[in-house]
Amino acid sequence: MKFSKEIENFLLEEAKSRFLKYVQIHTTSDENSTSDPSTDRQFDLAKILASELKELGCRKVILDEYCYVYGFLDATKGYEDVQAIGLIAHMDTSPAEKGKNVQPVIHENYDGKVIKYPKNPELILTPEDSPELKKFIGMDIITSSGDTLLGADDKAGIAEIMAAVAAWQKFPFLDHGPIVICFTPDEEIGRGTKNINLEYLPAYCYTFDGGEIGELEIECFDAWKANIQFNGISVHPGYAKNRMVNAIEIACRFVSQIPEAETPQHTENREGFYHLYHLEGDCVKAKAVLILRDFESKNNKKRIKYLEQLIATFETRYPGLKIDLTTEHSYENMIVYLKKHQQVIQKAAQAIKQAGIELKETIIRGGTDGARLSARGVPTPNIFAGGLLFHSLKEYVPVQALEKAAEVILYLAGNWLEEKQAKK
Ligand SMILES: [Zn+2]
Repeated sequence: MKFSKEIENFLLEEAKSRFLKYVQIHTTSDENSTSDPSTDRQFDLAKILASELKELGCRKVILDEYCYVYGFLDATKGYEDVQAIGLIAHMDTSPAEKGKNVQPVIHENYDGKVIKYPKNPELILTPEDSPELKKFIGMDIITSSGDTLLGADDKAGIAEIMAAVAAWQKFPFLDHGPIVICFTPDEEIGRGTKNINLEYLPAYCYTFDGGEIGELEIECFDAWKANIQFNGISVHPGYAKNRMVNAIEIACRFVSQIPEAETPQHTENREGFYHLYHLEGDCVKAKAVLILRDFESKNNKKRIKYLEQLIATFETRYPGLKIDLTTEHSYENMIVYLKKHQQVIQKAAQAIKQAGIELKETIIRGGTDGARLSARGVPTPNIFAGGLLFHSLKEYVPVQALEKAAEVILYLAGNWLEEKQAKK
């Protein structure tokens, strides 16, 4: 089955107009905040989405104190007993760039040349920045006005889900099973699933977050955090011989022993790394914080072993020095869980192909809400939302990608009806 032009046009207009509206709502999260959600402004979007979900026919909508929005959409007649699926996207935008006063600009019928920004004459977007641009010639590209990020990550995902829900209301012949919509706060600061209520989620979910058109992400990093505390001994520098143990100086020597070839700036594809992202201290105490990333958990375990051996060496080399290492497993590669639920992957792959798009099964050199959910028993692969160059002033999304992702959602819901339809 292919959708009619009428449905395609409806999805395009819905996804585009909703996207343009959502990006103008300031929802930047804040990693330094200890409250949940990290910023109250995320409620501004959450309230709008909750009321829109009600208007679009959800039987029940919940906006909770942690700023999670849940919408429960009943199945169409005859499909009440098929497996429910969850559609997830995040409301916050990255603190890496300004997200206030976003003014989206549509560059219609893109000609393959340089894109300029009205509010930032020095900034340009070229196919060198993003080779994918060449594929979008003739499409309409949405960017920011150049002084903020756009917020396609992940308001594109939200707009696509809402467009699909609107289509189910407008075209009641589009059959689907029970659907649970979930919009989360604070994904960009790693807390997107911290307060999620698993009781509301069905057994299988999909996130629509990031990624170029056609991407289906079923693997992410296996992720660790390592805190290394150096405890030195302070003595008057004039009388320090054989007595002072300078923690910060030793910390610098220590981090210089991390294999340079295994750092983010020297790795790509399936290669893992150590990433030192914080170092502070003085003579008495110093602290280094690293993240470790790899697609194979055994490689990260080797990295932890290496740090432990280095610590032993340094403690031998500097009598009086004490180094404490604490490690924390942030999230696992979701393939570990997803491979046991092949139908979740296969139905998504099929939906992307049905929408007439080339399927690209890819790996995420990062984590997603889906990785954490998969580990907690809810297999959740990630489907493209269509945007590119996230977390930057040059972030953009083709309007047609918004429409295609919305189509994928409709096909996906249809694919979960197959077993029931076969029995009919
Ligand atoms: Zn995202």
